[in-house]
Amino acid sequence: MELKSNVLDRQYFMYQEEYEKKALEVLRSGYYIMGPEVKSFEEEFATYVGTKHCVGLASGLDALWIGLKLLGIGVGDEVIVQANTYIATVMGITMNGATPIFVEPNHFHNMDDDLEYFITPKTKAILVTHLYGQATKMDKMVALCKRHNIFLVEDCAQAHGATYKGQQVGTFGVLGCFSFYPSKNLGCFGDGGAITTNDDQLADAFKAYRNYGSKVRYYNEMIGTNSRLDELQAGLLRVKLTHLNELTNERVILANKVLKAVNNPLFELPEVDKDCSTVWHLFVVKTDYRAELMSYLESCGIQTLIHYPVPPHLQKGYDYLNHKVGDFPISEKLANQVLTLPLYNGMTEDEVNYLIDKLNAFKL
Ligand SMILES: *Cc1c(COP(=O)(O)O)cnc(C)c1O
Repeated sequence: MELKSNVLDRQYFMYQEEYEKKALEVLRSGYYIMGPEVKSFEEEFATYVGTKHCVGLASGLDALWIGLKLLGIGVGDEVIVQANTYIATVMGITMNGATPIFVEPNHFHNMDDDLEYFITPKTKAILVTHLYGQATKMDKMVALCKRHNIFLVEDCAQAHGATYKGQQVGTFGVLGCFSFYPSKNLGCFGDGGAITTNDDQLADAFKAYRNYGSKVRYYNEMIGTNSRLDELQAGLLRVKLTHLNELTNERVILANKVLKAVNNPLFELPEVDKDCSTVWHLFVVKTDYRAELMSYLESCGIQTLIHYPVPPHLQKGYDYLNHKVGDFPISEKLANQVLTLPLYNGMTEDEVNYLIDKLNAFKL
């Protein structure tokens, strides 16, 4: 049997008729950018997440960098971010000329919430990533941001629908930043992103900024950019959003099946923190025998991925930040231990059973 790390067409074929009907509807409507689908999707996604506003954008990265820019964050400012996140989170900071202050993750791969020590007079925001689909513990962070009058921004690109104490991610900070890249839990069929917020002024500013800084056509109140979610993607996202809870449930069932059936002392299965839920964007195991496990699984026809092999502070592109090996030992160790196993919507019973059998049979 062959198991790919992800098979994106499975979730397309699950709702094929609905997607194709919507695609034709949009194609025949004559509206392709900033039309009724985007407006409806924004309303529906805001309702789903539990915020007053959602603004559609061209990508998750745009949500991050435009978000920090519109909060007034720039050169000389510091933003606290976790050292084991995807590099796009950090780019959202550095694209504005601000400095990322890296902190180590906790046992659940999420940002440790003991952050007081990292606050300086230059700190403008905490940018928290709900990594691999698991919500971060938010109480202490929310309180810390209030106390120091700094912004809390959430990178929710991997965690659509995840909750902390029953409250959805994207509602805790001033801004929730989402990606709809095809492989994300709420993925579209191209690029897409959005922010969620309860702040009227910020939502308004995003609507102008994404469209060259213009709210009234050809009148530019600020210098913005082009970052629009298109009608086709918004329409298809509306279809998928109606199925998101069942898609998440399917992932939860698959993950729980693996967690229950697999028992092998050579690797650690993922764990979920108290009060946090996960939408299982990625199923990540930890092992000191990663190379061995990877090549063993490959020999069984099972494809795996590494999220992520090099932490941002050691990426060549960030040489100028002057970090070195040893600066963030937990994140660096994780980069050598983590392995993402196949777990995707539409995974068959036979496929998950095959995965379980092979995982249990792994030995050195
Ligand atoms: C995917 C991702 C992004 C970037 O989203 P794009 O839509 O690809 O720009 C940002 N942060 C995290 C944690 C991601 O996983």
